Amino acid sequence: MLVRFIRSDIGDEQDASFWFNSWIEFGPIISYFGHSGPRQLRIPLDAKVIQATSIGEWRLLAARSDQAQNLQIILTSMTSPQVSKGTDVFIWQNAARTYAPSFSSKATWEQQRAHVPIVFWHKLIWFKEAIPRCSFITWLVMLKRLPTEHRLRSWGLNVAGQCVLCSSGLETHDH
Ligand SMILES: [Zn+2]
Repeated sequence: MLVRFIRSDIGDEQDASFWFNSWIEFGPIISYFGHSGPRQLRIPLDAKVIQATSIGEWRLLAARSDQAQNLQIILTSMTSPQVSKGTDVFIWQNAARTYAPSFSSKATWEQQRAHVPIVFWHKLIWFKEAIPRCSFITWLVMLKRLPTEHRLRSWGLNVAGQCVLCSSGLETHDH
């Protein structure tokens, strides 16, 4: 989920949702408290961050759970939203795992994808003028995943198994 990579940097927080925006280090507060959160903190589900403050200070009840206590520790270490700080901006996690205002699709994808070793035949498949359909078929060949007659038979399909081009052997990847 992209939401993992975005945070709103605290400004006036007029727009940021108290429960659903990821405006503190550990992500959306709703996922930390669960649905008893609004009742526990007496902050409505549709509240904006600014509604958790009054006259520039965090407005917090005495903590009655570990979660509430942890949240208070975090909030008191942050300055509260104020109109004078200007509007909120969104910041994105980049390759160095820090947050910056610019979004990079490459950095985001690199953090999200599974990393596996590079195969020696990758240039056969992915090159500048490659035709996607051909790349895909070649990729299946390299992985030995083409639906050859031989494989279809192994799946229990009622096919002859003979190579349809020469009829002189079993249609396998090697053939
Ligand atoms: Zn053949």
